[in-house]
Order: sequence, then C-alpha cells, then structure tokens
Amino acid sequence: MDTTPDPQAVLRQVFGYEQFRPLQGDIIHEVVAGGNALVLMPTGGGKSLCYQVPALVRPGTAIVVSPLIALMQDQVTALRQLGVRAAFLNSSMDYEQARDTESALLNGDLDLLYCAPERLLQPRTLGLLHQSALSLFAIDEAHCVSQWGHDFRADYLGLDILAREFPAVPRIALTATADERTRKEIAERLSLTDARHFVSGFDRPNIQYRIAPKTNANSQLVDFIKTEHNGDAGIVYCLSRNKVEATARLLRDKGLTALPYHAGLPAEQRAAHQERFLREDGVIVVATIAFGMGIDKPDVRFVAHMDLPKSLESYYQETGRAGRDGNPSTAWMVYGLQDVIKLRQMLEGSMGSDQFKRVERQKMDAMLGLCEVTSCRRQALLRYFGDTLETPCGNCDTCLTPPETWDGTVAVQKALSCVFRTGQRFGVSYLIDVLRGSENDRIRQFGHHEVSTYGIGKDLTVNEWKSVFRQLVANGYLRADPDGYGALQLTESCRPLLQGKQAVELRKDPAVKKSAGRSGSRSGSAVRAQITDHDGWEVLRACRKELADKQGVPPYVIFHDTTLFDMLERKPATLEELAEVSGVGSAKLEKYGETFLQAIAQLG
Ligand code: ADP
Ligand code: ZN
Repeated sequence: MDTTPDPQAVLRQVFGYEQFRPLQGDIIHEVVAGGNALVLMPTGGGKSLCYQVPALVRPGTAIVVSPLIALMQDQVTALRQLGVRAAFLNSSMDYEQARDTESALLNGDLDLLYCAPERLLQPRTLGLLHQSALSLFAIDEAHCVSQWGHDFRADYLGLDILAREFPAVPRIALTATADERTRKEIAERLSLTDARHFVSGFDRPNIQYRIAPKTNANSQLVDFIKTEHNGDAGIVYCLSRNKVEATARLLRDKGLTALPYHAGLPAEQRAAHQERFLREDGVIVVATIAFGMGIDKPDVRFVAHMDLPKSLESYYQETGRAGRDGNPSTAWMVYGLQDVIKLRQMLEGSMGSDQFKRVERQKMDAMLGLCEVTSCRRQALLRYFGDTLETPCGNCDTCLTPPETWDGTVAVQKALSCVFRTGQRFGVSYLIDVLRGSENDRIRQFGHHEVSTYGIGKDLTVNEWKSVFRQLVANGYLRADPDGYGALQLTESCRPLLQGKQAVELRKDPAVKKSAGRSGSRSGSAVRAQITDHDGWEVLRACRKELADKQGVPPYVIFHDTTLFDMLERKPATLEELAEVSGVGSAKLEKYGETFLQAIAQLG
C-alpha cells in the first residue's frame, strides 16, 4: 500500500467486495480515525474486515490477538491469498520461524501479525512491539476475558496492559457471544469503557431453524440430508461416542462421506478427519460437542442435532457453525421423550450443588421450551438472548408450517392421574399401556387393571400419548426419577392440572411425512436452487479444488461459494469482467483469473 488508501478502495481491490455491510463502515471509520471500539456481531457478520481494512489503511502493523492457533493459521492463509502481508506468532513455530517473523515486524514488512495472548504478554514480545510501528490492536474473541463465559482464558486478563503501554494505538475488541453483562465486563477488563460500542443483533437470518419430534431418528436424518443437503458439508452432533460411530457408519452406508470425531479417537485420526472436513468438499463430520470450536469453515451448510443440547447457549453456538458465508443453511434437530427424560435424569443425578443444579435446570427448561414452542422459534431464541425480532421470521419450521394445538386438559388429567394411581413407580410405556387398557401380564401382576385410569385413554394412539407425556416432562409437570429407570413422578406444579382447574393447550406433533424436509424448501435446497447450472457448478468446484490441493489449502480460501455462484451467473469472459465478481480482488484475479476464465469458457 502506498500513501493512505481509502477504506472503500481497499475493500474493492484487496477483498473484491462492492460495499461495506451496515456497521462495518462505521466501525472502520472509527478505528481508521484512531478511536477505540467494542464490536458485537454474530458469527458470519463480517467482523474480520472491521480490523483488516483499518490494518491496511493505517500505517504500521496491526497486532491481532487470537486465542486459537488453528484460527490464526486459517486467517493468515486466507489473507496471504489476498496478497496481504500477514504472519503469526505462536507456540506451534520453531525458533527460526519466530525470529523471521519478528524481524519482519521490526522492518515494517507486515500488515497484520496474529499473536496468541500468552505470547503477546511475554516481555520479549512487548519489547518488540515498542520498537515497531503499530497501526492497531485487534482483540478477537474478546469474551474470553469474561470469567462467567465458557471460554475464559486467564491470559486475556493481562491484555489491559495494552491500554497502558500503548495509549496512542487504537484498540478494537470483537466478539460474537456477549450478553449485556459480558459486554460490560469486556469493556471494563480491556479498558474500553470509553470506546464506542457497536452492537448488531444476534440474528443469523440465513440459518433456518427446525426441530422435529423424533420418530425414527436415523431415517429422519438420512432423509433430511439426502433431500436437502446431498453433497453439502455439515456437522451432525450426537451425545455419546458410540452413537457418533454408529451414525457415521449409517451415513457412509447410505453413500455419504461421513467421518467420526470424538475424544476417544487417537489425536492423529481426529486431526486427519478435521483436515478432510476443511479441505474436501461435501464432507460430513459426526461428532460429540468437542468438535467445532475454532473451526472457521464458511460453507458448513447444515448442523444436525441427534440429541438435545444442554442449553440454548450450546444450541446457539453449535448451530451457529452453519452458514458463516451468509448462504442459506439449516439447523436441524430431532428430539423425543427419551431425550427429555435422559437429560433431566443426568442433571438430577449429577453431583453439583443445589445452586448449580438450579441454574442448569433453568437452562434446560429454556432449551425444552424452544422445542415445544408453537410460535416463531427465532423470536423465542433471540428473546432468550435479550434481542427482539418484531415479526415472526418466516424461516423456521413453526413459521413455515405453524403447528396445530389442541385442548389437552382432559388428556393431561388422565395422564397425571394414571401416574398417581400406579404409585409414581413406572415409566412411559407402562403408563400408556395402562391408559390404553392393554392386556398384559405385568399390569395384572401389579393389579393395575383395576385402577380407575385403566383403559380410559383408548381415544389416543400410543404416539399421541407419548407426545402428551413428553410435553408434561418438558414443561416440568412430571419429572423422571433420577435413580430409577425413568419412572415418572408428579411435581408440585401439576396440582391444578390434575384437578382439572387449569386448561392446557398441547402441541400437536406433525404427522410423519416421508420427506420431513418438505416444509424447508427454502433452506439448503435454496442454495442449490440458486444454481441452475449444476454441471457448471461442479466444473468450477473442481477447478477450485485443484488449485487448493496444489497449495495444500482449503478450497474456500481460493474462493468462497458465493464467488463461484456469482461467476456462474455472470459468466465473465474477460479479466475485467471477472474482476466485477464479488470476492475477486486484484491478487486473486492475477493468480487465478486465467484458470477460471478457461473453466467458464468451457461451460458454454
Ligand atoms: P465473522 O468473523 O464475523 O464470523 P467473517 O469476517 O468471517 O465473519 O465474515 C463472514 C463472511 O462474510 C466471509 O465470507 C466474508 O468474506 C464475508 N464478508 C464480510 N464482509 C463482507 C462485505 N462487506 N461484502 C461481502 N462479503 C463480506
Ligand atoms: Zn420463525
């Protein structure tokens, strides 16, 4: 960069984008002018540009504090592809490499230097920084400074030193996960109370939220992927290692590329699977929650949950790994009565103080509440995070196919009374057998064919009763005995229901269709629907893959999907025309322009 370039020009030439997103422009203006900023934007909102553009506009090197080595490497690889002089300093490099990077910093040969916090705080590094020309400090994943959050890192606490030792260098802190309290904490601990705060909503409009009752989870999953996301990259979360293995096998048997990932696998195998997920197109990782942290893959098209997450925080974080590139993506989940019972049991049976359990119980209630809600899921989700969405979103299952409700007052009374009459010692299947008046030996053995609730529930099917019980447990009217085998017991709050004093509206579970995804035609398939020219898409994907493999980098650092879509639509024939495509900056135009023009020319 020669004399001070203007941000808009940097955006266009280096990144190949037409315009800033809302907020980006303001943030960049603030930082370029030397101000401090605290930025809250959802994943995929475009946080990186908020410091990368000022880093290229202001003289000197920008120091980016980042907690994860993998993320650092990703970002540096992507920036180098753009012709930006970027490097990192962390514990993964040897002495020699570190020395080279340090002298590049001193010589002013770097636009951005990514640095792990513990490295940054070493006296040696601080000394180097004092001798270098610095454009700004960016503190990524700033919520790591919060002791309440789940990503706390003690080294982040030391970062307030930057304000004291480098008062003239602007600082920008960024995070995607911060409620009001965490934001205040970040501002205080990083000495950013006087900084301008830029807060955009939490919404991820391109993610379609869907939660379906579990009927046959395996076939539901296969059906979902096959009809809506065939050939797409995705993550499937399961609670246990065994289930991870079994599900990966299932998907492979169905002809999909699926790899397991859990803590029981050897480290090399885990690394290899993660690597394939990043480098190849259309790989599905089946994982326990351990997978995903620090994965910056922009084109994950779906996240599927085969088991309920413990809280909405986890749900939001895990589903948030879909669609960072802004293209339509699906957050899909199935859940059923057994999940509810299992989670409740795990919680009640866990060690932990009463205080701890109370908090966990509230979190779980919120999660179950989202599952059973009959209005817009996105509104409910955002409300939980203190954000408001004025109107229903139109892109979640409850908006697309509003669930019916029914007056469950009498059914609920029957169910609760059956639990009571049988002594609160039995699980759901048994209770349903009693309600439906089944002829079975166990019932006779216990004499329950003589209780008043025997056979009073023939009007509902087994599945309908399961749905009633699920909702009763989800809403806290029944609890599962933590020590037993899922025996259901009454709770205090069920009294008015039992007495029929309180009317209850229940959610009617949608009838099981062969293709559960019909309602979701706007989701993943929308990405495919954007592509009218499927052969062309495959040609461009192959072209990108070849270039990526040659350099040993993931395909998305060559070009994002969005850029390939745009190429397909515009079919540029010259370099000038190709430069107009979103995501094609000058460095990539030079490096890959001819190759892609040739590929496009073949398409006819
Ligand atoms: P975050 O760090 O907030 O999760 P990123 O910085 O990774 O988000 O950006 C998400 C995606 O949006 C990336 O694919 C990025 O290239 C793209 N993007 C960001 N800003 C713009 C813009 N102004 N125009 C077009 N695409 C953008
Ligand atoms: Zn909605």
